[in-house]
Amino acid sequence: MSNVFKVAIIGGGFSGLISAEKLASVFGGSSVLVLEKNDRVGKKILATGNGRGNISNSEMSTEKYHSIKGADVGFAIKKYGNKSIINYFKGLGVDSSVEDGRIYPSSFQANSVLDMLRLKLDYLKTVVKVGCRVEAVTSSGNLYKITAGGENFLAEQVIFACGGKAGKQYGTDGTAYSLLQNLGHGLTPVYPSLVQVKTDISKIRGLKGLKSQAIASLCVDGETVKSFSGDVLFTDYGVSGNAIFYLSAYIPQNKKCKIVLSFLPDKSEVEVEEFLREKFKSTPYLGVDDALTGVINKLIGKAVMKTCGQVNADSRGAKVIAHAVKNFSLDVVGTLGFDYAQVTKGGIPFSEVDPTTMESKKHKGIYIVGEMLDVDGDCGGYNLQWAYSSASLACDGVLKNENR
Ligand SMILES: Cc1cc2nc3c(=O)[nH]c(=O)nc-3n(C[C@H](O)[C@H](O)[C@H](O)COP(=O)(O)OP(=O)(O)OC[C@H]3O[C@@H](n4cnc5c(N)ncnc54)[C@H](O)[C@@H]3O)c2cc1C
Repeated sequence: MSNVFKVAIIGGGFSGLISAEKLASVFGGSSVLVLEKNDRVGKKILATGNGRGNISNSEMSTEKYHSIKGADVGFAIKKYGNKSIINYFKGLGVDSSVEDGRIYPSSFQANSVLDMLRLKLDYLKTVVKVGCRVEAVTSSGNLYKITAGGENFLAEQVIFACGGKAGKQYGTDGTAYSLLQNLGHGLTPVYPSLVQVKTDISKIRGLKGLKSQAIASLCVDGETVKSFSGDVLFTDYGVSGNAIFYLSAYIPQNKKCKIVLSFLPDKSEVEVEEFLREKFKSTPYLGVDDALTGVINKLIGKAVMKTCGQVNADSRGAKVIAHAVKNFSLDVVGTLGFDYAQVTKGGIPFSEVDPTTMESKKHKGIYIVGEMLDVDGDCGGYNLQWAYSSASLACDGVLKNENR
């Protein structure tokens, strides 16, 4: 049995490394233990923001966050919001830049975020063990015993920063939930979020690989719940692209959902109708089949025309076609799943932690942070921001307990 650490952090991802840096700066690195099952820390950080590391967003609000059983993240994102994460990284030597509201390191390289965290941890001589999968955490008197890779470690306090179930290639396969379940914590159902969407493909056969700008709306039981403007990419299973990624965070389980695409996002349905009416007048030599030629991508136009039924190149035809262009709907049949998802919807119920410190309500000195909790954010930097905010609160909690 090795010495007793002041704090052990399970998981060397974004929230784990930030927790380690903050606490090693106070306690000294030799009192802080990081246990990471991968052969190196921060593997997922490198993949974030397409390798550019979208760490936060200039528009912060609780509405950007979701949960299965309810989570009030207001305190966390108020105390440790976007200004806080910018300042935090500035302190580590990472400047930031904003692009379309998304906050990135100004190098636009996710590896600079990881490098600066790693270098600081090295400088502080933090004890980081990689290739070390934690198998059990049990209480042992006033301490916690952590079993990993045939070794036991003792710590006064433990931060669980193991991530969720999305992206098992980065070490997060959902098995770590059981560590907390064995300590009496619950688990909501978990689902993939920020992920490509499978749809009925009968209307989009032949469109594979085509990308279009559109407003994508999610309709649940006939009601529009959310819309995003952006790229929509047609695939052989359904749709992808940033507008779809954004929307996927809002897809509920076990409800009838449709994705409705509005092509020509800068034009209203009435404007499209007027344009078509004029077109029919000025090009009487064209058949109705060419109504959308020169207006939207030809193949997408053909797919839209197929949904119009029998129409003619007249006023009624203009109305029907304009409606179809602005309301191309696809039935949602699922998603590509956890292997492709960026984040997990669901997790350890938020009601089981103190929202001001992330300390477990079941075990003093245990903290749960980041994606492991039943909190998921919109696409655009909200998940790394959450990992940072919750980790920062947990560090406050660790220090508060330490000083009692
Ligand atoms: C491809 C991709 C791109 C993304 N891009 C963005 C983006 O640009 N902006 C954004 O905000 N979010 C993005 N996300 C989401 C974001 O990366 C995560 O929400 C965030 O990293 C969660 O942080 P975390 O610390 O909770 O968990 P993670 O960063 O997932 O870290 C958890 C760590 O715990 C380790 N671990 C798990 N179980 C054990 C165990 N039993 N023992 C020891 N170690 C264990 C894992 O190996 C992992 O290293 C992206 C996700 C993916 C997959």
